[in-house]
This record gives sequence, C-alpha cells and structure tokens, in this order.
Amino acid sequence: MSGGALIVGAGQAGFQVACSLRQAGYDGAVTVLGDERHAPYGRPALSKERLKPESELQYLRPESFFAAQRIDLRIGTSAVRVDAAGRRLHLESGEVLDYDQLVLATGATPRRLPVPGGDLAGIAPLRTAEDAERLEQRLGATARLVVVGGGFVGLEVAASARARGIAVHVLEAQDRLLARALSAPMSAHLLDVHEQAGVVVSRRSVVERFVDDGAGAVSGVVLADGATVAADTVVVGIGVVPNTLLAQTAGLAVDDGIVVDRSLRTADPAIWAIGDCARFPTVDGALVRIESVQNATDQARAAAASIVAGAGTYDAVPWFWSVQHEQRLQIAGLSTGHDRAVSRVANDGLSVFCFRGDELLAVESVGRPKDHMAARKLLAAGVRVDHGQAADPDFDLKTLVP
Ligand SMILES: Cc1cc2nc3c(=O)[nH]c(=O)nc-3n(C[C@H](O)[C@H](O)[C@H](O)COP(=O)(O)OP(=O)(O)OC[C@H]3O[C@@H](n4cnc5c(N)ncnc54)[C@H](O)[C@@H]3O)c2cc1C
Repeated sequence: MSGGALIVGAGQAGFQVACSLRQAGYDGAVTVLGDERHAPYGRPALSKERLKPESELQYLRPESFFAAQRIDLRIGTSAVRVDAAGRRLHLESGEVLDYDQLVLATGATPRRLPVPGGDLAGIAPLRTAEDAERLEQRLGATARLVVVGGGFVGLEVAASARARGIAVHVLEAQDRLLARALSAPMSAHLLDVHEQAGVVVSRRSVVERFVDDGAGAVSGVVLADGATVAADTVVVGIGVVPNTLLAQTAGLAVDDGIVVDRSLRTADPAIWAIGDCARFPTVDGALVRIESVQNATDQARAAAASIVAGAGTYDAVPWFWSVQHEQRLQIAGLSTGHDRAVSRVANDGLSVFCFRGDELLAVESVGRPKDHMAARKLLAAGVRVDHGQAADPDFDLKTLVP
C-alpha cells in the first residue's frame, strides 16, 4: 500500500486526527488502525451512561462517515513494530504498510494491582467497550461492589452502581480522593457528595489481597490493617500506563509517555504522538501527559495542522469534566504545584481557584458552568485574578475576559 498518513489507535485521538487531516485538506491516503473490534467510540460514557441497564455503546460516527471522508478504518488490526528508517509499519498479521507520516495515538492500559488474588473472576478494570459491557451485566447480579481507587473512573463507577441500588465501598490509599488531580477543598466536597449518596469511602486503605470464594471468584478484599471488606464484584481504577511499546520499537524517547515537542512531533520528523500516550512540553517547559478527551482531540487537531501546514505549537488550556451523582465537575487548567486554594462557595455550587503565589493555575467547578467557561478564557489570556475576586461568588469573572 502507498504511504500517506498512517494512524495507530482508533480511539478519541486517532479518530480526530483522521477527521482533522481531511478538514485541513490532506489529500493523501488516511488509514486508521485499531486493535479493538469496534469503530471509534467515546470512553467517557463507559463509566456513566453505559453502566445503566439496556444502555448502548456510543460510536463517535456511523461507519458510513469513514468511507465518505476517504478514511480507511481497519479495526481488529494490531501494529507491532515500526521500521523508522524504512518508514514501514509491521502488523501482527504479518502485513507491512508504508507511511509518509505515522501518528501514534495508542492510548493507555489500566494499571494492574499486583496483589494475591488479583486474577479472580469478578475483579476487573474499566477501559474498553468490552470491560463496560461485562461490568454492566455483572452489576445486575451484584449486591456489594468494591471500587479500588478513588480516582475519576473509580468514583464514576461508584456513582453509577449506587444509582442502581448497589452497596458501594470505595477504597482509596491516599488520605483524600483524587489527591493528584484536585485541590483539597474539591476533594472534600466530592467525599461529601459520595457519602451523602450512601457510598462508603475508606481512605488510607491499602489492598493486601483478594479473597477467593472457593470457586475462583472474588468474595472480599483484605486490607493492610487486617480488615476484610465483602465484595461480589471489584472494579480496580488505580490509573493507567501509556502504551509506548510501538514507539520503543522505533527507537523513540519514552518517559511515562512518548516524548514529543510542542508540535507533538517525536525526534523522528515523520512520527507524531498524541492523546493519552503522549508526553509533551507545556508553555512553561514542564513535560506532562494528560488523560482527557479535550487533550486527545485538541492535540489531534494541532498535529493534523502541523502535518498539513508545517510545524505549529500545541498550547491549549487543558479542561476536563466528570459526572458523579448528577454533579458535573468541570476543571480548567492544571492545578499541579498550587500552593493556595481559594473556595468560592455559592448556593448553586462551588468553584475552587488554585493559585501558585498570585498566578492562577486552575479552576475546579461544580454547578458553576459560567465560572468554568470564564476560567478557560482567563487562563488562555493569562489574566490575573486576585484572591478576593476568586472568593466572591457575585464577582462576574467574565468582566475580566479581554
Ligand atoms: C471509563 C472512562 C471514563 C472517562 N471519562 C472521561 C471524562 O468524563 N472526561 C474526559 O475528558 N475524559 C474521560 N476519560 C479519558 C478519555 O476517555 C481518554 O483520555 C481518551 O479516550 C484518550 O484518547 P486516546 O485516543 O489518546 O486513547 P484511547 O481512547 O485509549 O485510544 C487508543 C486506542 O489505540 C489502540 N491501540 C493501542 N495500541 C495499538 C496497536 N499497537 N495497534 C492498534 N491499536 C492500538 C487501543 O486499543 C485504543 O483503542 C475517561 C476514560 C475512561 C476509561
């Protein structure tokens, strides 16, 4: 097959870069390879709507779309090795494809919990359509669900299961929920929301092993302090590991993600990496890897623009959302390294402004979509917000937007 743009990964980022290449006028062949057996679908629903009985997988586009856009979508196809010097990609089937541009959009794989009993039936991660389908079916016969990990995926699963009347116990190793991603006040708010909804949350709880029911299925979780929590089903949500194997076969730099420059290009000028698998420099030079739909789609757009029109830079303000017990959490910016969190408490919700000194790094909002939208614009423009303005729920942030 002739070169063109070859995209590995038919997830959010792979799908978007193919679309954006066409929108930007790319006229060569566009091929998307995906090792799952589904056309591109949205992962966010897997821990939310898809866990309701009789829900369905949400495809990003109907299959006819790909033909109309001249995108050759090859699902159930796994790439195993990159021959960077020859600009060729080796598939598991033995087939070899040429490329002019190779985009790695390989996503990430759930981290496994390396404790005894981790392979028992009824213990599962949640990443793929199949994981969600299995979990949804299992929830129908589950009275007690244990969620290991109080991160976004775990907490969303907890909320979805609780809505089905299931007793849910979340085990978090840190002393607060979402400790890496959220400020302390927003963590405390979410803890309250979960507890109000009847979810039991144990913090500083480290899993030591899983208990076998005698027939190869899980029946409980033993903690490091000796306590046992009964469970019919366990969901493990302790983070992901970026899929970097293919990049390693190409001899590319890998460091908790495929290392790219500000145009999302690797050290090989014909190879790009985007989405959950990519580690990229932010405006202030720090290398980060972000797991979100916004990051995957915006990086895909930026990479497509660079491929078609030459090097550009990716500098979008990160934003993220999560839904737990009907509460929509929205985050603008990255709070890593903040030393002060200013809460804006209002009748309709809460926003937390994360500062490093006087510099606003991120704003986390629940029930305050206007704060979120304004925050995205303020962060993009680098506008100063003082602590008093941040704390005042009646101060309209929009007035600061240039
Ligand atoms: C349950 C869940 C809920 C989420 N909720 C939210 C949310 O509310 N908001 C939000 O912003 N984000 C959310 N996310 C995160 C978001 O879905 C991801 O950040 C996004 O999907 C990343 O897109 P991606 O294309 O980089 O990776 P992926 O979507 O993981 O796609 C990568 C694809 O590449 C395939 N692949 C890997 N290696 C190969 C290979 N060698 N050959 C062929 N194919 C390969 C993988 O199988 C996969 O299909 C959620 C994620 C999960 C799992």
